[in-house]
Order: sequence, then C-alpha cells, then structure tokens
Amino acid sequence: MTFQTAFNRPLRLGMVGGGEGAYIGNIHRIAARQDGAFQLVAGAFDVTAERGHRFATREGINSERSYDDYQAMIAGETGRDDRIDAVAICTPNHTHFPIAKAFLEAGFDVICEKPLTATLEDAVVLERLVRESGRFMGVTYTYSGYPMVHEAREMVAAGKLGRIRTVQVEYPLEWMATAIEQQGNAQAAWRTDPRKNGRGGSIGDIGTHAYHLAGFVSGLKLETVTADLATFVEGRLLDDNAHVLLRYEGGARGLLWSSQVALGSSNGVRLRVFGEKASLSWFQEQPNELIHAPLFGRTEIIKRGAEDLSEAARVRTRTPPGHPEGYLEAFANLYLGFAEAIRAGREGRESTAIGRNIPTAYDGLKGVAFVEAVVDSAEAADQPWIKPIAV
Ligand code: NAD
Repeated sequence: MTFQTAFNRPLRLGMVGGGEGAYIGNIHRIAARQDGAFQLVAGAFDVTAERGHRFATREGINSERSYDDYQAMIAGETGRDDRIDAVAICTPNHTHFPIAKAFLEAGFDVICEKPLTATLEDAVVLERLVRESGRFMGVTYTYSGYPMVHEAREMVAAGKLGRIRTVQVEYPLEWMATAIEQQGNAQAAWRTDPRKNGRGGSIGDIGTHAYHLAGFVSGLKLETVTADLATFVEGRLLDDNAHVLLRYEGGARGLLWSSQVALGSSNGVRLRVFGEKASLSWFQEQPNELIHAPLFGRTEIIKRGAEDLSEAARVRTRTPPGHPEGYLEAFANLYLGFAEAIRAGREGRESTAIGRNIPTAYDGLKGVAFVEAVVDSAEAADQPWIKPIAV
C-alpha cells in the first residue's frame, strides 16, 4: 500500500463509545488496526464509566488512559507528550456534536460516525469549526471505502458513462421490522428516539449512507428533493421506510429508498448509475464486482484486483482477485485515508491517493442537510420539492 509513514509510528487513537455490546466501535477498532495505521491507546468507551473501564482492561488499554467520560479524556490527554493524534466517536447521534466540538476545540483531530449530528444547526456549527480550526475531521461513510466504488467514481469522472441521466440507490434492512425498541433492544431504542437519532428515522440512519454513495460516485450535486416517509411499525416515532425523489443540478434524476423493515434484506446497499453512453451497477453483497453496460455493447463484470483499474481502486486493494475483500477492508480503507490526510496536513504536503476523496465534515454536513430537506418535504402537505440549505 502507498501509505506514508513519515511519523515513523502508528497514529495514536482514542475512542469515545464502542464499549461492551456496542456495534460500530468494534468495526472501527478492526479497521484502525488492520494496516497498522493507528494504535488504540485511550478511551471513554461507555456511557457508564465502570463498564467502560472494564472494557478498557480487556482491550489492553493502560488504566491511566481509560477515562470516566470524554471530558476527562480531553483533560487527561491534553497534557501528555504521547497524547492521542485523533479520537474516534462511536456513540449515538445526539452525542456526536458536544463530543466532537470539545475535542476539536482542544486541538484534536476527529473521526466521527454518521450522521454527523442529530440537528442541522449542530452540523453547521461543527463543519465551520473544522474549517476555522484547521483540524481534520473524517466522517465514516463506509461505502466510499470500497475499491470498486472508487473505480465507479473514476469511470464516471472520466466520462465513460457520458452525461448522467438517473441514479438509483437503495439501502434496505430488516432488523427493525418489529417493535424491538419496545422489547429492550438498546440500539433500536435510541434509533427510534427523535431526541437521540434526529428527525429522520431510516433516512437519517441509513438513507444518509445511500445519499452519500450516490453523490460520491455520480459527482452530481443535489438541487431539490421530495419525499414520502412511512412508519410501518406501530408506536414508532420516526420513519422506518423512506422513498425519496431527487433532482440534481443539470437535469439528472435520482431515486433513493431506505428501509428498516425490508424483510430478507441485510445491508443490501445497491447503486446503479445510468448515463447516455453506459450504466454502472454495484451491490454490496458482491462488492468485488462492478457491472458496466455500454450502449449497444457487451455487459462486462469488472473485478477488483484487475491490473488496469484506477489508482484510486488499486491503493484500496490488498489481496489478488478471487480472494474476497469486503466490509472490514472498506472500513480500513477509510482509516488509511484518514491517517494519510492527518499526516499530510501536519507535514504540509498533498495527500497521496489513499488520502484523497475521503468523507469529511463537509460530507457530513451535506448528509444532515439532505435528511432535513427530506423530512421537511415529507411533513409538509403535498410533499413539496425542497432545496437543502446551500452547503
Ligand atoms: P450502540 O448503541 O451499539 O453503541 C453506542 C456506544 O456508545 C455504547 O457503548 C454506549 O455505552 C456508548 N456511549 C453512549 N453515550 C456515550 C457517552 N456520552 N460517552 C461515552 N460512550 C457513550 O450504537 P452503534 O450502533 O454502534 O452506533 C453508534 C454510532 O455509529 C451511531 O452514530 C450510528 O449511526 C453509527 N453507525 C454507523 C455505521 C456505519 O456504517 N458507518 C454502522 C452502524 C452505526
């Protein structure tokens, strides 16, 4: 891999959240360690301090760097010669803002989960703070870590599809098809609480991924949206199914579907981009393949690892074709990109390919603005076309 190691050591990572029984924190740890770009050295892993300390011990974290909460972590790390280089925020959505803001203001780089914040006001403040502080902030839009997604992006940018006409993107899930939030499932409980998840249910939780993926590959800029949100599970306070129509600048159209009640679908992220000259299709369950269908030509399957792929795809590839790579490698690619961007920033140089086209606070803000516009449209009479705030 073309990974710069000018610091001559892994970057030191701290983590907030991601403790015992949490989902995404463990994926972050695997991803951060996979290529040796980061070493986890500190954390406030749980909303309950004692559980967090127990978890830190199991993770082999030095006890003096296992903190009661994120404020104690900032205070403890700030004075150290070997202070963390960045913090990963793996907590529910409504806590991203205070935690990220405090770390940025204390001079730390931040890697934050999506959606960036639970409210648009918070996202605006945070993105401005990142710009003004000069700190780095990566946002883990997972699907933009896949090499074949980068290949698709490069093909669109090189004009292989011609002018884009329509983008179809979907993110269906099934795990919230019943009222599990009322039966003790903590992850579903905060995801269905507007104060914690934000105004968008499925659209904020997974629709934001689909929106980012569609824009990342197509390069299209959103103009307006109209949306139909539904809540199928009785008693649920937020949408669990979203159908969104998108109009992009220049006339292209989009169709986005996110669902938490789609039986038989487990993270079935799918993207199709149709241009005047060709179409591209990518499906997370076959992430090593990209299907290219040119006008009047033969449909081809482009495989990860092929020698003539773009640099953007090659630097995100570890194993030869046939040995599958997937979700964990895609996540690790984000971490490699974040590490490279952090190093390049501190060394005052341009990032190499792995650190380019990575999701940042700006993408996070656009994601929150999209969700806000979707909910505004869905809540208004006759679902008007809404223009997200200019970002
Ligand atoms: P979770 O409920 O499984 O875990 C949350 C963890 O945060 C728990 O360990 C909890 O104790 C801890 N926590 C809560 N408040 C805290 C605080 N103030 N200080 C310290 N720790 C605190 O949640 P999850 O499913 O892992 O989701 C966490 C975040 O990750 C959410 O923002 C979610 O949207 C995002 N997520 C992203 C992806 C992705 O593909 N990128 C996938 C799943 C979840």
